[in-house]
Amino acid sequence: MDSPPRPQIEAWLRYFDDLGLGPFYLDRAAAELPSVAPAAAEARRAPTTAKRNPPAMQPAPAPRAQDAALPVVPSLFDATPRVEGDSLGRIREDIGECKRCRLCEARNTIVFGDGNERAQLVFVGEGPGHDEDLQGLPFVGRAGKLLTQMIEAMGLRRENVYICNIVKCRPPGNRQPERDEVATCSPFLDRQLAAIHPRVIVCLGNVAAQTLLGTNKSISQFRGQWFEFRGSKLLATYHPAFLLRTPSAKSEVWTDLKKVMAELGLKPPKPKPRSA
Ligand code: SF4
Repeated sequence: MDSPPRPQIEAWLRYFDDLGLGPFYLDRAAAELPSVAPAAAEARRAPTTAKRNPPAMQPAPAPRAQDAALPVVPSLFDATPRVEGDSLGRIREDIGECKRCRLCEARNTIVFGDGNERAQLVFVGEGPGHDEDLQGLPFVGRAGKLLTQMIEAMGLRRENVYICNIVKCRPPGNRQPERDEVATCSPFLDRQLAAIHPRVIVCLGNVAAQTLLGTNKSISQFRGQWFEFRGSKLLATYHPAFLLRTPSAKSEVWTDLKKVMAELGLKPPKPKPRSA
């Protein structure tokens, strides 16, 4: 995967400087990891992932032998300093009435995220839309209803999982967030993911997938593949808004979600008997 662009790195450094954290250095060893996860990389992550995130949905299946061969994501997130004792509440407090990027100008509400702080499964989208901006909750519009259906088809409820976005404020006219906006806001997402430390992260759409994987490649080139992301398994699939425009892609997304279900040991709910 490609390295993050320099403006993104600079924005992250400014952000952590605001928090009084530093000095920083680039973990070149992480950046130079080969595309197949070596045991040493796992060992390096171990201290930050131990004893966190007790199961919120089902007992975790035993680690599988093939997990050791997952592609590692060598993004700057690997070198991001941990915030000791971080929690979603503390991250939300740190965001405050944020004006760190221009997306603050037209927003009504900061859409932080919603769901289970101890979730094993996190969905990451691009940014709030019109309905989300008004309600302050992620994925509550038409695309959100479809995401809810997808979650329920997996045998879960929305409150079992955590849902958030790359940027917390609605881009005007529902445009894609600009790179500098993503770079400024994504450290909050980084902290959310570290605080929850889910077993599986599902990126919904290009922006989420490209940001977390640090790549410019189109999602169609790596959709449905597993990656290792800081101790979680990460898979990218199409955004529900894309499915509203392209219903024929639903079968591909369902194929991806079945992989997630298998990873989490989930079985789809039994169909309800038809009433006479
Ligand atoms: S998008 Fe993120 S960084 Fe930009 S103003 Fe909103 S909360 Fe702050």
